[in-house]
Amino acid sequence: MGLVELNLDANASYGTLPGLAEEALRLTRFGLNPSSIHRGGQGARALIEEARDSVAAAIGATSGVRIVFTSGATEANNMALMLPYWEALRGDSRQIHLLTTALEHPSVMEPARRLERLGVALSLARPQPMSALSSADVCQCLSPQTRLVSVMAANNETGEVFPVTEVASRARQAVPTVLVHTDAVQAFGKVPLAWDALAVDMLSISGHKIGALSGVGALVVRKENLAEAFLLGGPQEMHLRAGTENLIGIVSFGLAAQALVGEMAKRCDLMRRAVSVVRQVLTQELPNIEFNADNRERLPNTLSLRIPGLHADDLVAALDLEGIFVSSGAACASGKPEPSHVLLAMGMTAQAAKETLRISVRGDLGEDDARLAAQKVCSVVKRRPGGGAA
Ligand code: PLP
Repeated sequence: MGLVELNLDANASYGTLPGLAEEALRLTRFGLNPSSIHRGGQGARALIEEARDSVAAAIGATSGVRIVFTSGATEANNMALMLPYWEALRGDSRQIHLLTTALEHPSVMEPARRLERLGVALSLARPQPMSALSSADVCQCLSPQTRLVSVMAANNETGEVFPVTEVASRARQAVPTVLVHTDAVQAFGKVPLAWDALAVDMLSISGHKIGALSGVGALVVRKENLAEAFLLGGPQEMHLRAGTENLIGIVSFGLAAQALVGEMAKRCDLMRRAVSVVRQVLTQELPNIEFNADNRERLPNTLSLRIPGLHADDLVAALDLEGIFVSSGAACASGKPEPSHVLLAMGMTAQAAKETLRISVRGDLGEDDARLAAQKVCSVVKRRPGGGAA
């Protein structure tokens, strides 16, 4: 029997839903250009519009939004963050201030840093040490010049859920002209996202985090707020994202969004159960285990933990040999020698950050597999010097 492989790294990529890639390929087998005016092109166009409706339904957006398909959430985040800069170049406002948090994904952090180098005033809100990020932590950094506030809906490394709606409402009260963006990549599919209730102006999501193919995402934009095109060229995506559409990717995103609408409650319930099994086994077997960002509002599928004295990268490598895929932080930061900027901004020491392991499960990880995976984590830990082997 071959090695069982279990994906407990679903925050890096959920993995394509069973049968979804085949169905997307079947639907798009002619692969024609959606901008062509012949029937072949129009068929492809219809598939894209259907996918747009499915994605809109999955975020509870029945009207009043534009779903702009992009190459992923990285592009969507870049597009959202750059908006104040384009406005400034047009002369709409001379002094602009961008407010985001020190806990964001690099696809928000890096454009924010570039904007700072280009002269935009930047504030990075931080939580109180070892505390949840509050709307007050963010809103105390507002200024009358703040044009954009960007706060992620849930953190990819710790699974902590942030008070985006509260931030949006407080920020608008303080600065009525402010725009609010949220990177909802990790929240999408794991906590209910109702577009109207969220009350943001822009929201980024990614296909591969909900079971679609990689390389597709969307920026969701409130109609009355104009996003600025990042890629210039053809008129695709309502003139907001030039380039021939990633037809199979977009169709796969639509299919994954449709699946989510019917299954989300069940999927989250299963995630919660699997996480609770993992936690129970680890807590029983590893007396010195510590859970990060514990007792806070969190995603149902994510555990951030550490075993003091054990480097998480070593555990990731050892677990890989056992067929268990976990991570030591964000996938895009793996292999970097520096400790996670998120964990440091939360108030953790560099040592504790390097010991942090992320376990993030799919909605179809059964309890037996969750137990098996947790037992393998325990045996790998116990085999390591300092890991508690008898
Ligand atoms: N934002 C968050 C919170 C993420 O976790 C990720 C991916 O890990 C991204 C953005 C980037 O998404 P994509 O892979 O679609 O570019």
